[in-house]
Amino acid sequence: MNTFRRIEQAPDNVTALVRVDFNVPMQDGKITDDTRLRAALPTIKALQSKRCKIVLLAHFDRPKGKVVPEMSLMPVADPLSKLLGSPVAFAGDCVSDAAKGAIDALPAGGVILLENTRFHAGEEKNDPELAKQMAALGQIYVNDAFSAAHRAHASTEGIAHILPAYAGKQMERELDHLDAALGNPKRPVLGIVGGAKVSTKLDLLQNLIGKLDKLAIGGGMANTFLYAQGVEIGGSLAEKDMADTARQIMEAAKGKCELLLPLDVVVAKEVKPHAEARMCGLDEIQPDEKILDVGERTIRYLREAMKHSHTVIWNGPLGVFEMPPFDQGTVLAAQEAAELAKSGKLIAVAGGGDTVAALNHAGVASDFSFISTAGGAFLEWMEGKALPGVEALRT
Ligand code: ADP
Ligand code: MG
Repeated sequence: MNTFRRIEQAPDNVTALVRVDFNVPMQDGKITDDTRLRAALPTIKALQSKRCKIVLLAHFDRPKGKVVPEMSLMPVADPLSKLLGSPVAFAGDCVSDAAKGAIDALPAGGVILLENTRFHAGEEKNDPELAKQMAALGQIYVNDAFSAAHRAHASTEGIAHILPAYAGKQMERELDHLDAALGNPKRPVLGIVGGAKVSTKLDLLQNLIGKLDKLAIGGGMANTFLYAQGVEIGGSLAEKDMADTARQIMEAAKGKCELLLPLDVVVAKEVKPHAEARMCGLDEIQPDEKILDVGERTIRYLREAMKHSHTVIWNGPLGVFEMPPFDQGTVLAAQEAAELAKSGKLIAVAGGGDTVAALNHAGVASDFSFISTAGGAFLEWMEGKALPGVEALRT
């Protein structure tokens, strides 16, 4: 059940400690992509309209429990203030009297960013003492960092057991969409899983076959499945030692979840952009060829499967999308999903580092119902694991 406390249920006029994800890409002290700052604005504004004081907690990079000046969050305060349109104060520690004094001095609706939580060794150890010291700075806790929710750290988990804890707007959006895709989906639900290897997505595949109506497997990992079925895959990337595992997955899926493996493929002798390529059936792959994408028949089949589904959840590109023409399978499938989602016929949800890059490359990311940018947390959620930062917000 997707039940957790939301900001609407939080009291007004209190000091809210808000865990955000400000682990932004930075070069020479300048933020090169402010997506994560923008993502925090709805929560900050919602709390401002409740006349709360807003105290932002975040980590940056990996200082490993020590103060590393280059990993200060200070350069984030100004850009955030510009995006928000109101001042953002900064305190040089996420605990201590200095932080307390600065928070006391804030007006109602005022915002302050505290220094990198990972400057304290207790953060990643989920030290109850550090959680207590942070909790002492406010009256409620709001977690808006889904992307950090797979880690039980003092500022993502420990503190939620001390103060009344709520999901921020970004967290709420993420949880509601993920629940609509896998927790409690409108059926039939189709999964599309691609990417390089079976070994990195074993837990994910095992969880999905128990939850989905159909699962399409593409990318390098499909090669391992094809190999396990006796297909001659030439020089394709495959984990031959995982053949037994692949067979076990196919066996376990029987009667529960229909597996769609590639029907045809695009092969080339070299893995490089614009390499000479050809499309062929599964019985025509030569020993010196590599499978680098799914073929046209597979795409047609996949499109049909999408048309007959109400929900699609996608992780992993179907081919080596970084190198044209091997991006075609992923691009065409993404376009179909986006079109169906745009016309309201399909709930299309996707996530994963390379998947997001591939959907952006296809130019359709904005037409998807939801795209998770959470990386590790998204994958753990797809694996069916409980995320400690989310569990602590459950009612
Ligand atoms: P994500 O980051 O979205 O979870 P992955 O990291 O699992 O996705 O997979 C992405 C990688 O899989 C890409 O670098 C892509 O080139 C690779 N890949 C996809 N298909 C193949 C293939 N047929 N052979 C080799 N690599 C592949
Ligand atoms: Mg990846």
